Amino acid sequence: MPYAQTIDSEFAIVGGGVAGLAMAIAFQQPNRDFILFEQATELKGIGAGFGLAANAMRALDLLGLRSEVEQIGYYLNSYHILDAHGQLLVAPDTQAISEKYQQQNFAIHRADLHLFLLSKIENQKLQLGKKAIRLVQHTDAVTLFFEDGTQHTSRFLIIADGVKSPLRQQLIPASAPRYSGYTCWRATIDNAQISLDKGTETWGKLGRFGMTPLIHNRIYWYACVNSTPNNLLYRDYTINDLWRHFGSYHAPIPAILRQTKDNDLIWNDIIDIQPLKHLAYDNILLIGDAGHATTPNMGQGACQALEDVAVLRDALTLEKNVRRAFLSFEKRRLSRTKYITDTSKRIGEIAQWDKSFPIAFRNRLMRLMPARLAQKNLNKLLSVDFMKTT
Ligand SMILES: Cc1cc2nc3c(=O)[nH]c(=O)nc-3n(C[C@H](O)[C@H](O)[C@H](O)COP(=O)(O)OP(=O)(O)OC[C@H]3O[C@@H](n4cnc5c(N)ncnc54)[C@H](O)[C@@H]3O)c2cc1C
Repeated sequence: MPYAQTIDSEFAIVGGGVAGLAMAIAFQQPNRDFILFEQATELKGIGAGFGLAANAMRALDLLGLRSEVEQIGYYLNSYHILDAHGQLLVAPDTQAISEKYQQQNFAIHRADLHLFLLSKIENQKLQLGKKAIRLVQHTDAVTLFFEDGTQHTSRFLIIADGVKSPLRQQLIPASAPRYSGYTCWRATIDNAQISLDKGTETWGKLGRFGMTPLIHNRIYWYACVNSTPNNLLYRDYTINDLWRHFGSYHAPIPAILRQTKDNDLIWNDIIDIQPLKHLAYDNILLIGDAGHATTPNMGQGACQALEDVAVLRDALTLEKNVRRAFLSFEKRRLSRTKYITDTSKRIGEIAQWDKSFPIAFRNRLMRLMPARLAQKNLNKLLSVDFMKTT
């Protein structure tokens, strides 16, 4: 690898999602020399909601952001899994989990979290409208090439450009996203007519439907249906189609759908990436979905992005040599993120069963399952101190 001609910054971050924005804040705290590049021309905050479990709140705590995020999150004191008639299948004891790990679980609107993180970043550190299309790795630096014809050379590169990351796919060509087998609609609506006060997910033959209250009296809902990838029929689905699809599900699902406007629907196929063998590539590091995208079945994608940032900041504090700090990060993050991707994929496969007999069997098992087993995956996740994991 040749040496770079010029160096524009110490670090470059590509991608202004949860991972990239939180990383920028972490870099500001010891005042590191960095620039964050984001392809969007405006960061107005898009998407619907997501859960911030106790581990994400701990990571935010370590980054000095927890108490402010709590102000814009909805405290979730329960999250039940129901069948299509609204009968309880599993009620993980989230209160006990919160007490045990001394952190609460929250639901938050993605846009609210993004705008909050963005508000903490100095303007001159962020460059919008910068779509990275290619990188060249030098012995002492990395050069990024952007769609607008410009380039930037930094000593180190943090790739945080999400599950479809073109930069990751350039580094590791076999890391294209993989399709889960189900597609998903999401939206945020007003809660005034519905008065939802609990987070639930409903598992039925026709698909899954999740709903969670958010602050400012809003509801975030999502619906997952088995499908071939990029199904054109579903791409054109309207609220009326979804209402017909889920019309037989328990209240308030039909009412929530009736309340949603077509323009507010977000539709994506659910994808993840096969766990990678490495996250560190000499002077390049992958974080967030770019490094370990998972299906949303454990509600951990953004939580893991926040853990990444807390661990990387710690690794860079403990180890002044950045290449060695990247390797230490990889050692601390690989098996944990692999566990989540693999477990979440398996949960999704079971949750999306669509045949009556296996569903009846599954539901019976879930009802009989002791609470401690129902919480097994979450407990396994939270009982590990992610700051110490190797
Ligand atoms: C249906 C659903 C439900 C979910 N629920 C939860 C949940 O409950 N809890 C949870 O923790 N997580 C959840 N997630 C996952 C969570 O949304 C993601 O894991 C998280 O947003 C990933 O953040 P990120 O910053 O790594 O990537 P992203 O949010 O994808 O951000 C990547 C950023 O990079 C930018 N970018 C992309 N390409 C380029 C480029 N070439 N050049 C420059 N910029 C670029 C993008 O514009 C974007 O701003 C859910 C996901 C889905 C789909």
